[in-house]
Amino acid sequence: MCADKALQKMSWDVIIVGGGHAGCEAAAASARLGADTLLVTHKLETIGEMSCNPAIGGLGKGHLVREIDALDGIMGRVIDQAGIQFRMLNRSKGPAVQGPRSQADRKLYRNAMQATLAEVENLTLHAGAVEDLILDPTGRLTGLILGDGTELSAGAVVLTTGTFLRGMIHCGQERTPAGRIGDAPAMGLSKTLEKAGFALGRLKTGTPPRLDGDTIDWSGLDRQDADPVPEPFSMLTDRITVPQIPCYITYTNELTHAAIRDNLHLSAMYGGMIEGIGPRYCPSIEDKVVKFADKPRHQIFLEPEGLDDSTVYPNGISNSLPVEIQAAFLKTIPGLEKATILRPGYAIEYDHVDPRELLPTLETRKVPGLYLAGQINGTTGYEEAAAQGLIAGLNAARAVGGNSEPFILDRADAYIGVMIDDLTTRGADEPYRMFTSRAEYRLRLRADNADQRLTPLGREIGCLSPERTATWQRKERALAEARHVMQDLRATPQELGRHGISVRADGKVRSAAEVLALPDITLSALIPIWPQLQKIDPTIVPQIEIDARYAAYLERQDADIRAYRRDEALHLPVDLDFAAVGGLSNEMVQRLARARPRTLGQAARLPGVTPAAVVALMRHVRRAAGSRAA
Ligand code: FAD
Repeated sequence: MCADKALQKMSWDVIIVGGGHAGCEAAAASARLGADTLLVTHKLETIGEMSCNPAIGGLGKGHLVREIDALDGIMGRVIDQAGIQFRMLNRSKGPAVQGPRSQADRKLYRNAMQATLAEVENLTLHAGAVEDLILDPTGRLTGLILGDGTELSAGAVVLTTGTFLRGMIHCGQERTPAGRIGDAPAMGLSKTLEKAGFALGRLKTGTPPRLDGDTIDWSGLDRQDADPVPEPFSMLTDRITVPQIPCYITYTNELTHAAIRDNLHLSAMYGGMIEGIGPRYCPSIEDKVVKFADKPRHQIFLEPEGLDDSTVYPNGISNSLPVEIQAAFLKTIPGLEKATILRPGYAIEYDHVDPRELLPTLETRKVPGLYLAGQINGTTGYEEAAAQGLIAGLNAARAVGGNSEPFILDRADAYIGVMIDDLTTRGADEPYRMFTSRAEYRLRLRADNADQRLTPLGREIGCLSPERTATWQRKERALAEARHVMQDLRATPQELGRHGISVRADGKVRSAAEVLALPDITLSALIPIWPQLQKIDPTIVPQIEIDARYAAYLERQDADIRAYRRDEALHLPVDLDFAAVGGLSNEMVQRLARARPRTLGQAARLPGVTPAAVVALMRHVRRAAGSRAA
């Protein structure tokens, strides 16, 4: 990588616009595939900035980070260098719904991201504002124009402009045009996208006030510690060396709610100043007080923003009230009675593009060569943004390199596939965030097996570093050997009984793998029966145990996945005339023509498309394919 003050050249394979979470991942992915890549962003020093909460991962989101890592992306490695409170969420539940999460030291995260990008070959960073896109007469993208008038040509461009498109900050009655606090918005690109015919929508999100930790009374608050042994996100991290610190928990109460309720008319969100739609799953405190009026209290996590930073992020009270009202309601909260506000909370409203404008590669349908990733597509969250950046960056680099085969993950491959299919099929009428409940094949799509699912695919397309490949091969060999041994070792019910493991006395000899699948049996419990199991590499033991436990369920789920993939394999011609499909109502024709699904499966997932319409579509396409073949 080189940071280029005055650009040395004007022509690039791929240009990434934006150095947020989507942009960093897109730039690294494109460069990994060998594309000559330029990342243009407003300020180099804010690359990797966390605009809101200082944390990575969580339920569903942690899965995304592991998947990014499995394809040799960078987010997992970066948080491993910056995490100050690693916790596995849902530890008491099954592995399918557990989610790794870590609180981040904001500065360490930014520094680690910038240092990681600095190591990436084929990547140049440039500070600048992109104002316009250049299209040729056929409508294909050929480059872009910077704020100072410089024209750059590119084989492909990935826009990852986050909350910056026509961004407007609201704090009470005050409105300030901004992409986030302290950063100017991007105005030109919104106009360009509108001119190119993209459907733009307006969304909003909010952030809480930042507090001075030295003015918080921590005594008497509930304490939450990191896991005793922090589990890294990345396969390439042996262990976490960053010191781990606790968070604390406090609660709002009736007095807080009264202070907020009495001033709702002054809130930007409730005073009618904001038209955009906010994230349902991450509501503001005004929203919580109004919508959950029967709840006597709401939880607030007091999260330190860094090891050498006294700033505290009070997770749970994002709001857009005037600053004096924020100060007043904070005084009612235990521990925060004397807390000083370092920066008030605010809401931000911004433009986004309807993601149904996108192909599953994240290339736009309207402008070939233009890709979109991150919050611009109606999502919210760093992980969602990074995962899209990865896919857009890989596909942009492949297309420019002349590879016509797109890199697409489906709903049975990855949470990334679920998210992109949801976005491109159903759109985002509210900010989209990932949850485990969005995935149909949760037993297969676990955070613990992301590398087994995806690293081989990464290898096929050549996006892995030699170090990643070697680590993966070592683990694969160890897993294969362990599975082999587990199949070969066998015992009768009597032998198992002698070691305190009771199974049905059916005379059937069971393998170690079958015994490990029994409830509450761990590998260490089998060592007295089969001492050779001690030789299994301890780092793969959790994987062996989980795989054994899920084996029977996975077989059943595999049948569902085969049926899903049969429908996905039935491609609908790009120029299919839906009006010519017998048995479709006018309403169905319109729905399908608007969405232009690419596969039968995608058609079936469109809102409002009936099973009868899907059958009609299937018959039509099969008949057409049959007559073409004849
Ligand atoms: P960003 O991280 O926003 O990065 C965009 C980048 O593009 C920036 O570096 C910017 O400088 C650059 N850029 C933009 N336009 C141009 C241009 N024309 N030329 C050059 N560079 C450009 N997420 C949650 O999950 N939960 C929350 O509670 C939450 N609250 C939020 C509150 C606020 C106030 C904000 C601002 C964001 C919040 N988010 C929240 C969203 C989270 O910050 C984003 O989802 C995430 O950062 C999106 O990543 P991104 O890469 O798409 O964009």
